[in-house]
Amino acid sequence: MIKKKNLVFLGPPGAGKGTLSEVLIKETGISHISTGNILRAEIKNETELGKKAKGFVSSGALVPDELVADMVGEWLGKDECGKGFILDGFPRTVRQAELLEQALNKIGKKLDCVVYFKAGEELLLKRLTARLTCGGCGAIFNKIFSAPKQEGKCDKCGKDLVQRADDSLETAQERLKVYNVQTAPLIEYYEKKGLLCSVDSELPKNKSYPMLISVLN
Ligand code: AMP
Repeated sequence: MIKKKNLVFLGPPGAGKGTLSEVLIKETGISHISTGNILRAEIKNETELGKKAKGFVSSGALVPDELVADMVGEWLGKDECGKGFILDGFPRTVRQAELLEQALNKIGKKLDCVVYFKAGEELLLKRLTARLTCGGCGAIFNKIFSAPKQEGKCDKCGKDLVQRADDSLETAQERLKVYNVQTAPLIEYYEKKGLLCSVDSELPKNKSYPMLISVLN
């Protein structure tokens, strides 16, 4: 149902990259990698990578480029990515974009589209500080914009909903600052490569999702 299948989702934290990924993977069967989700799992499981990443993630800073790029490079080589993939939250620096290009070249693949999720900071902060994530299946809810049917419980699997530690106001503000300095330059980078398209992610999911589908066709 979509023509462009090898995708990067680029945009500030809280723009809805994870939320629209959830819907797109369900409807198309393409694979999804969220570097943030993987890092949080590694931290929870106290792996070597988790130990290295913990300080960066909890302060809202970026984990070093090579660490994240290795993780993504390994994943891209897997068979499950054959139908297409969404890279959600990667790349986040120009260096990561270069490492991604090298990794894709190695396996004979290329990006079809970089979707830029556009939203203003006021709304982003409101969304981030009200966001709830399911500790079981990872589904995303929001106290203001998409509350679960039963308070504190996931609609999908019934497990408890939690606030991510880095969604506190202070850390969310820091993450937006980091985004503006280190990640926003990728908008121009991919525009110059003719790969950029945009989605208005200030809109609710039922309006932004059809927009996403139309840019992918
Ligand atoms: P996210 O879930 O995408 O908001 O990411 C949460 C945190 O994980 C970020 O604030 C960073 O500390 C770390 N992180 C996720 N993706 C990357 C990346 N591509 N490069 C560096 N750090 C990352």
